[in-house]
Amino acid sequence: MQTELAEFMRGTAEGQEAEDILRKCVHCGFCTATCPTYLLLGDELDSPRGRIYLMKEMLENEQEPTSEVVTHIDRCLSCLSCTTTCPSGVNYMHLVDHARFYIEERYKRALHERVLRALIARILPFPERMRVAIRLAWFGQWLKPVLTRVKAMQPLAAMLQLAPGSLPEPVAARNAPASGNRRGRVVLLQGCAESVLRPQIRAATVRLLTRVGFDVDFAAGETCCGALTWHLGRKEEGLEAARRNIDAWRREMESGLDAIVITASGCGTTIKDYGFMLRDDPQYAEDAARVSALACDVSELLVQCGLPAQRTAPQLTVAYQSPCSMQHGQKVVREPIELLAAAGFNVRQPVEAHICCGSAGTYNILQPEIASRLGQQKAEHLDRLQADVIATGNIGCATQIERHSGTPVVHTVELLDWATGGPMPAPLSPYVNE
Ligand code: SF4
Ligand code: SF4
Repeated sequence: MQTELAEFMRGTAEGQEAEDILRKCVHCGFCTATCPTYLLLGDELDSPRGRIYLMKEMLENEQEPTSEVVTHIDRCLSCLSCTTTCPSGVNYMHLVDHARFYIEERYKRALHERVLRALIARILPFPERMRVAIRLAWFGQWLKPVLTRVKAMQPLAAMLQLAPGSLPEPVAARNAPASGNRRGRVVLLQGCAESVLRPQIRAATVRLLTRVGFDVDFAAGETCCGALTWHLGRKEEGLEAARRNIDAWRREMESGLDAIVITASGCGTTIKDYGFMLRDDPQYAEDAARVSALACDVSELLVQCGLPAQRTAPQLTVAYQSPCSMQHGQKVVREPIELLAAAGFNVRQPVEAHICCGSAGTYNILQPEIASRLGQQKAEHLDRLQADVIATGNIGCATQIERHSGTPVVHTVELLDWATGGPMPAPLSPYVNE
């Protein structure tokens, strides 16, 4: 694709990067076939190719973002299905991130949108604030029908809808030594939403990794990975979170570290990108690249090490749904399936497994209508498998699928922990006798 970037972008690292990405697109349109918003809405401007054109026009001509451009970019889930499909290797992720920063700097959103986005950025990345917000949401449930009727207020209704009816007891981030033969030492990402909504995932991961032979430590001073604010276009807030985490992990890396283990694939995709995000920061570039190289999804580490000796394998059928950030963002596809099969589960996969469930970070708050339709589709495909349980690898996907499906939903590590000596995952207890 011919490109001619605006004067202000020429010669900058970001401008060069955007230009390189845009030049790779040959306009073939293969990506449209796997784009959830195009498949749902049928509008070329809601396809990757259409969005690439809009971004090219905006960046080339240094245009102020129009409401039309913002609408179509906002509707993108950042699911990255298009990057898996694209035969030319277009790095859509970095391009759309760049466009979001550009929009955030130059486009004045309606007041209610600004307030909502600021609230999301100030609350969701902080577990304590999130807990308070969920408790407040319990008192605001009566507002849901009213808010649902006003289009501008639907994201607030979605927030109320997403708030769980109760909060589980937190699981402390306490260092745990390896049991049995010691293999090494890892740091486990503490995370934000996952630690509030499903702290059992942390407990299961610590049990499983120590059983495999790792000392599992938690780094003091860690914060949210930055994905939430980054994808809202709040670049500096995302970078600040990345720098804070690198500071925290720098100390850990000095004492010898085999991996930074992540159980939420959305966070994993972002942390694996720290090296790129901070490539021009002289104080952080080198350590950011080291952090990205050490970051891995828990399933990647487990496949390398093998599972501990199993007790009796639970005779259950598992419907496995790979999060987009796992399959498209990190290209981690076979690992969770192989692990579940090795643990004795009968694993099935739904049709259209490559299509997003509609969770996509804060997408199910900001675009509730599209998210809900995608969630329903995903749940129908999964329920059709008639599995005993659905497994996935990202808290956002688990929450979204749970809303729409009648089948219990757990994290893959909860099943692997159970199969190798841990307790049965709580969502299964009403359905399965141990
Ligand atoms: S990231 Fe997902 S929603 Fe966005 S253009 Fe690509 S396939 Fe479509
Ligand atoms: S598949 Fe790749 S090259 Fe083809 S239109 Fe989509 S982004 Fe461009």
